[in-house]
Amino acid sequence: MQYRPLGNSGVKVSVISFGSMRYPDEETACRILNRGLDLGLNYVDTSSGYIDGKSEQWSGAAIRRRRGEVYFSDKSAWASAPKADGVRANIERQLKAAGLDYFDFYQLWGLDKEETLREALVKRGFVAGVRKAQRDGLIKHGLGFTFHGTPKLFRAAVDSGEFCCATVSYNLMNRAEEPNIAYAASKGVGVIVMNPLAGGLLGLAGDPALDFLRREGGKAGPWWGALRFLHANPGITTSIVGFTAVAEVNQAASTLKGVQGLGEDYRADLVSRMDGVKFTEGHFCTGCGYCKECPHGFKPTRFMQVMRDFEIYRVKAKDLTHWILSKYPHQNIRELMAKCCECAQCQEKCPQHLEIVESIRKGKAALGVK
Ligand code: SF4
Ligand code: SF4
Repeated sequence: MQYRPLGNSGVKVSVISFGSMRYPDEETACRILNRGLDLGLNYVDTSSGYIDGKSEQWSGAAIRRRRGEVYFSDKSAWASAPKADGVRANIERQLKAAGLDYFDFYQLWGLDKEETLREALVKRGFVAGVRKAQRDGLIKHGLGFTFHGTPKLFRAAVDSGEFCCATVSYNLMNRAEEPNIAYAASKGVGVIVMNPLAGGLLGLAGDPALDFLRREGGKAGPWWGALRFLHANPGITTSIVGFTAVAEVNQAASTLKGVQGLGEDYRADLVSRMDGVKFTEGHFCTGCGYCKECPHGFKPTRFMQVMRDFEIYRVKAKDLTHWILSKYPHQNIRELMAKCCECAQCQEKCPQHLEIVESIRKGKAALGVK
């Protein structure tokens, strides 16, 4: 395993780490986590929102006896804890759920608005609550943020000096966060990559369009090149992989073989090949974000990825309602979708020419939104 400093936190984390939102059951979660620890993975990212609240419990139970081998991170949305006492209550509840005495890191979850950052930093606000928890020993190493906003907001968060790490969505297919990653790295802030396989799209074995990402000889799926693309970027501290099986942990660890020699040329080559990819089975949302500026307050980018994964994972049509609801655990998605007036401004910007409005209509119908 390779380790990199997580910003200025004083700790080094493995370049591959645990995302905890896709474990199929507790027993598998336990086996995945223990296998990963055996291989040297040492960072767990979790949240109360994953797996209907079971992620914290399963992850905590699996690592409890090996607590000293792992850095455990949990998170809260600012809206759930706008004041210091609220975040303290969240931390205590989450520690209890995980069965742990302390977290190593804590994240301001889903930072996407300037007001949220401003409010989080006020006296007796979110950040003050986390700092107090740090002084009291409930958080051992530091505070980070997970991010879905503009470059300006990202810089403001980094420049606040309050955060030792930032978690961003980034992968070979969707590289919009690349300037933010470089900025964080230049300021000594660790970068944690979520969505390293584009929500599973780059893990697909079947599509020949992704064959250039396979290991030579075709023995490994496209995840091989997709993860090595991330490892080859020194600005990325770690990538959190949403493991669903022990075999995937072994596969992810295998991608580190000979990775030291890979650099900018390797990454540029993969980028140019990726840009030439046309999926053979129709067009897919690549998560590029070109559609993200909705004047009516809906977020079509996120929604289109939810609908894309619905297709990719071949979820049954009758389960669409549950699928959408499960992807928005902290938001009233019916209320959000009702804001979309189907003006199609987002659709005009889609380079994949996807019928965004039609997808939104389908989602509205599943949720009973008029
Ligand atoms: S169709 Fe219009 S209102 Fe609906 S998400 Fe797209 S831009 Fe927003
Ligand atoms: S729907 Fe189109 S524009 Fe929006 S993120 Fe997906 S590919 Fe990009």
